[in-house]
Amino acid sequence: MKIFITGGAGFIGSHYVKLLLSGDIASADRPEVTVLDKLTYAAVRENLPAAHRRLRFVQGDICDRALLMDLLPGHDAVVHFAAESHVDRSLGAPAEFVRTNVMGTQTLLDAALHTGVQRVVHVSTDEVYGSIAEGSWTEERPLLPNSPYAASKAGSDLIARSYWRTHGLNISITRCCNNYGPYQHPEKLIPCFVSNLLEEAPVPVYGDGRNRREWLHVDDHCRAVHLVLTGGRAGEIYNVGSGREIPNIDLAEWLVELCGSDSSMIRHVADRKGHDLRYSLDDTKIREQLGYTPRVPFEKGLPETVAWYRDNPEWWKAVKYRDAKPASAA
Ligand code: NAD
Repeated sequence: MKIFITGGAGFIGSHYVKLLLSGDIASADRPEVTVLDKLTYAAVRENLPAAHRRLRFVQGDICDRALLMDLLPGHDAVVHFAAESHVDRSLGAPAEFVRTNVMGTQTLLDAALHTGVQRVVHVSTDEVYGSIAEGSWTEERPLLPNSPYAASKAGSDLIARSYWRTHGLNISITRCCNNYGPYQHPEKLIPCFVSNLLEEAPVPVYGDGRNRREWLHVDDHCRAVHLVLTGGRAGEIYNVGSGREIPNIDLAEWLVELCGSDSSMIRHVADRKGHDLRYSLDDTKIREQLGYTPRVPFEKGLPETVAWYRDNPEWWKAVKYRDAKPASAA
């Protein structure tokens, strides 16, 4: 099997690529992998092996149709992770989110259709549903996104649906809750808090911190994506949850404890505009139809993740401070 992976140098995509290359995932064969990644600020090329006989890395943009038409022939499947992914950035600079997440997805799916790719998985997010005070979303819930990021992902989901309904493209959509784990960009909540605490800097909690999120280890998300790739049905959407939700303030307190720091390091800051209060997924469908069961409990995964950041300061410091570096004289 030959799999084309977009955004494979990002947090989740790189974990998925490494799972495929390691063979540590249920797979009939040893897939060949092509990664297409633009290497935006969010990417770390070194997250992937520098060289591997079953990996081809191409730096490029999913909006580049000619490049896609050149690269895609011969691939059996596309797994589409590439996106602008940080909600806070989408508040100030939404245009790039629409370009990559909506236009890029449309360009990719069009190229997949015209090059005869047999199977596509579009990786999306629970944020497309909006915010839910009580209960959990099933896949039938209407899309009510609140941030430009979520709106652009919702747009990409609808484009994906249209390529299935109109053109018969064999595509499934996954909608996952918040991910955590090693190699996540330090702008995201858990690595931001952990890296700050390890540097004895305060951690910023939006508003009163009562906003609740559902958390899943990146390894469980990637295994779910692979289940959908290999067993999911065309035109279907699969929620991928963990059932483990926690208010941000409780998570901050827990991280303070895991980092051996002090609660005085928690600083409440002005709330994010349009901040969703709560996300919660009903993922009965993927559990019952595809046998999905998350393997990493938060009580185990979170301390292990903190330990990883403690043991790998060179990784997160390089990412956290690379944009702040003065321009080279060369
Ligand atoms: P990330 O920001 O870490 O990685 C995104 C990758 O996409 C980067 O390597 C970047 O260089 C690449 N990219 C961006 N624009 C591109 C373009 N135009 N062409 C080619 N490559 C481009 O994101 P992530 O956290 O790994 O998320 C991956 C996917 O999973 C996204 O689609 C996101 O919406 C979805 N998702 C993320 C989470 C989460 O908690 N992180 C939860 C649910 C769903």
